[in-house]
Amino acid sequence: MNHQTEITPRLGRILACPKCHGNLIAELSGSVEVGVCSEGCGTWVDIHQEKAFWDLKPEVFTVDEMLQFRKNYEGLGPQGPLRYINCPVCKQLMNRKVWGSYSGVFIDRCQAHGTWYGKEEVEKIREYIQKGGVEFEKFCLADSGMSALGLKLSQLETRLEHKINSLQMRARF
Ligand SMILES: [Zn+2]
Ligand SMILES: [Zn+2]
Repeated sequence: MNHQTEITPRLGRILACPKCHGNLIAELSGSVEVGVCSEGCGTWVDIHQEKAFWDLKPEVFTVDEMLQFRKNYEGLGPQGPLRYINCPVCKQLMNRKVWGSYSGVFIDRCQAHGTWYGKEEVEKIREYIQKGGVEFEKFCLADSGMSALGLKLSQLETRLEHKINSLQMRARF
C-alpha cells in the first residue's frame, strides 16, 4: 500500500523523524500541517507555520497576576540528557534553546527550516502561552525598558548637574 499522501509533503519530500528516523506523518493541528512521528518522538513544525501553529488566545491578566506568573508557572524541566539532533530537512545539527524566555521548555530549532518539539513539549508550551507566558515576557521587556530609560535619565541629570556646577565655579572667578 502506498502511504505517500499521508506523509508530510512539505518542501516536496518525505521527512524522517530526527530521533528514530521513521517517517513523519502529516497531521493537521487546527489549520496547520505538522509532521508527527508515529512512534511518538515529537512534532515537526515548518518555519513558515510556526506563527500560525502557536496562534493561541491567552486569558486576560491584570498586572498583579502578571507579577505572579513566575511563581505559578512550572516549566517542563530537562528531558533526558542533552543530545543535539539533525534538522529533518537539511540534516544539519539544530540549535537547542528554551522556547520564549521563561517557559523552561527546550526545543530544537533549525533557523532555516523549522522547529522540532519533543514529547510533551507542545502541550507544555501551549499551557505556557495560555497561562500568559508570552504576555509576561512582553511585560518584563517593557519593565526593563522603562528602568533602562530611568537609568539614562538619571545619568543625564547627574551630567547636567556637573556641568552647571563647573559653570558656576567658572563664573565665580
Ligand atoms: Zn520518531
Ligand atoms: Zn534545516
